[in-house]
Amino acid sequence: MGLDRLPRQPLGCWPTPVQPLDRLSAHLGGPKLWVKRDDLAGLAFGGNKTRKLEFLVGEALARGCDTLLTAGAAQSNHCRQTAAAAARCGLACHLALGGEAPQEADGNLLLDHLLGAQIHWCGAHRKGEDLPTLADRLSRAGRRPCVVPYGGSSALGAAGLAAGLRELQAQALRPTHIVFASSSGGTHAGLLAGRALAGLPTEIWGIRIDKEEAPDRPFQAEVAELARSCAERLGLPADPGLSEVRLFEDWLGRGYGVVGAAEREAVGLAARLEGLLLDPVYTGRAFAGLLDLIRRGAFRPEDRVLFWHTGGTPALFPYRRELLQQD
Ligand SMILES: *Cc1c(COP(=O)(O)O)cnc(C)c1O
Repeated sequence: MGLDRLPRQPLGCWPTPVQPLDRLSAHLGGPKLWVKRDDLAGLAFGGNKTRKLEFLVGEALARGCDTLLTAGAAQSNHCRQTAAAAARCGLACHLALGGEAPQEADGNLLLDHLLGAQIHWCGAHRKGEDLPTLADRLSRAGRRPCVVPYGGSSALGAAGLAAGLRELQAQALRPTHIVFASSSGGTHAGLLAGRALAGLPTEIWGIRIDKEEAPDRPFQAEVAELARSCAERLGLPADPGLSEVRLFEDWLGRGYGVVGAAEREAVGLAARLEGLLLDPVYTGRAFAGLLDLIRRGAFRPEDRVLFWHTGGTPALFPYRRELLQQD
């Protein structure tokens, strides 16, 4: 099978646990809930990018690259996991981060520094607009850079989540729905490709986190295209199910990374009822969406709903003020 033939650099601790959320399920009076703990993926506080990076770094090493180069927001979990992967593999790491250097590094940014990444502040460019220029500069300085795409979301990166779905299948939980935070689309695409690979009937429901999209291509089309190209990489025949992208966008709030009452409630509820830490930007917002879907009656009582915890917990600390605010 295609998945096993791709070069893959081991970085995480697999399988990540699947745990029941019985107290939350009872509190909500809805379907039974479980969580897939990719926040425990094992590489420098974990997260879903570790799955993508196993394939992206596998290819970078096969190509003889000596430097990883990627981009994101100042509190990017993807950048932190890329920096950790580079350190693990003896590669240099350059990060193109949006915004300006803050007075004090906190959360993921603190970890980027500890992990030895070199940081380039890029102002309004938080999605990799400056990567080609930086790659050029590194090449001219004699380095062999590998550009890791924004969010690790390419056909190859998405293969990591297809592998994740296969891992879940071996854990013998048969969820009717998988719900997760969707931002650059690779997670959604990989889960769709993985579902096609496994031939599962599971609903794959993405909760959209970031409303920005390319002017010429709506996000839904982007995810469908990524899913198709990932499936092709895995040697799957064209699957009609891949173009059916279920995305919910009612919880975009006041924009990416703006924490409000909904995120506060979700983070607080998971923490107090389950001892489970979500993050304020991604999993907190996605879980707020899940709570809302349950309250609106989107599930039947007999449904089995798996929340895929995609990580991000280091961002709890820089968001301390927003998280403790009284509503
Ligand atoms: C990157 C990220 C996501 C979104 O994954 P995509 O593949 O970019 O859609 C969700 N949660 C966390 C914590 C992330 O860091």
